[in-house]
Amino acid sequence: EKEVLRKPDWLKIKLNTNKEYTGLKKMMRSRNLHTVCEEARCPNIHECWAERKTATFMILGDTCTRGCRFCAVKTGRPTELDLLEPERVATSVEQMQLRHVVVTAVARDDLNDGGAGVFAETVRAIRRKVPFCTIEVLPSDMKGDDESLTTLMDAKPDIFNHNIETVRRLTKRVRAIATYDRSLNLLKRVKELSPNTPTKSSIMVGLGETKEELMEAMDDLLKHNVDILTIGQYLQPTRKHLDVVRYYHPDEFAELKEIALAKGFRHCEAGPLVRSSYHADEQVNEAAKS
Ligand code: SF4
Ligand code: SF4
Repeated sequence: EKEVLRKPDWLKIKLNTNKEYTGLKKMMRSRNLHTVCEEARCPNIHECWAERKTATFMILGDTCTRGCRFCAVKTGRPTELDLLEPERVATSVEQMQLRHVVVTAVARDDLNDGGAGVFAETVRAIRRKVPFCTIEVLPSDMKGDDESLTTLMDAKPDIFNHNIETVRRLTKRVRAIATYDRSLNLLKRVKELSPNTPTKSSIMVGLGETKEELMEAMDDLLKHNVDILTIGQYLQPTRKHLDVVRYYHPDEFAELKEIALAKGFRHCEAGPLVRSSYHADEQVNEAAKS
């Protein structure tokens, strides 16, 4: 039996499940839709869905062709491509009265375009149905394929988000197939294709990285013109996933945020429960101002 680090008090959160939330969950199931909020059992779900009017949809099915060792999404060979999913997502965004939506997807390495076509169509469907809702995309690296990226950028998302997840040295252990440099280059390429679209990336801490390595990752992101950074605590989804090496104290997150802003990020969210999509609504507003 391996020793497991005790969870500190600031991570012991009770999930808030009220009636409105239960209703929304039912709606998701009836439309065969998946949200990261639910699948990752995100502790922010009440704040996001009810107060901030934001949610993260996971499209292109619930089965990922990759198996990253921090991620709870099911791995396997997807069997279908659901062409009606974009409309169902848009209808749900409308019904939930969302003001900001994050659209992410499993990696579909089985498809030639990595799913970019359906991804782009989802952005367009939401735009048609709920024009005032800002849209953030959070795709896989789509195998670094430039045509797929262009297809997605043609749909004009308000924010482009792609996570490097961890520092260079740990990438191979933490992520499957994706590489540190391919992800950085993808982020840079977005700025070339669409200079005014804010780009964003996220790092999980607690996987064994050093402070120097974190500084290097921040510098690398800035060198690739990334505007927004989120930093959160890695939490082990099941015992089969990577162990948590360390829990960072909230003060350490505050310090990391300060460093990130001093280095030149336009916006940074850092905290134990910060997820890639946390407070994303503020980031669009801020990005629009600058
Ligand atoms: Fe969903 Fe992201 Fe909010 Fe968590 S932080 S509830 S995943 S939108
Ligand atoms: Fe999870 Fe994304 Fe990795 Fe797939 S590619 S296993 S969805 S983190």
